[in-house]
Amino acid sequence: MTAADDQDRAVRGDAAQESAASAHPGPLVVTDPCPVCGGQGASDEQTCPACRGTGVGRFYHGTKAELRPGDLIAPGHAPNFGRLDRSTPWVYLTGTLDAAIWGAELSFGEGPGRIYVVEPTGPIVDDPNLTDQKFPGNPTRSYRSREPLRVVGEHTGWSGHTAEELKAMNEGLERARAQGIEPID
Ligand SMILES: [Zn+2]
Repeated sequence: MTAADDQDRAVRGDAAQESAASAHPGPLVVTDPCPVCGGQGASDEQTCPACRGTGVGRFYHGTKAELRPGDLIAPGHAPNFGRLDRSTPWVYLTGTLDAAIWGAELSFGEGPGRIYVVEPTGPIVDDPNLTDQKFPGNPTRSYRSREPLRVVGEHTGWSGHTAEELKAMNEGLERARAQGIEPID
């Protein structure tokens, strides 16, 4: 058990007690904790198979694409930051609505942002762009996969970030771009 694990566990415990009803819960709130393990990611010291040890009962993917239930979201799209003329071999998913909202707002493309409830079709790993040094553990519950995500349905009724929050995020991404920071493949 490392310090990161302790923090991870603390975040999961807090998240499990939050209400999932809000249209825009806080950034570290797992919107739908796994009902099997109560959002803990494990029960009886065993990794919870239902949520793959994530504590997440429902995964989200934010995008500008218009999709239907049953559609597959495959890797190979432009990343949300860094050079937009490249593609990433990963497809991203998250257990927090806040992170999905950022995905919908920042993803490349025309039209309104959309948030889909998705199921991974293959293994998922922590998104290293949002874990490790920047945020110890994986408090934003951000994951990625090299296999497609299956769209289960669209999550509607969410509210976006404020103009100030968007401005601050875009300035941060612009700084990262100017410094040549690219997503970790
Ligand atoms: Zn579980």
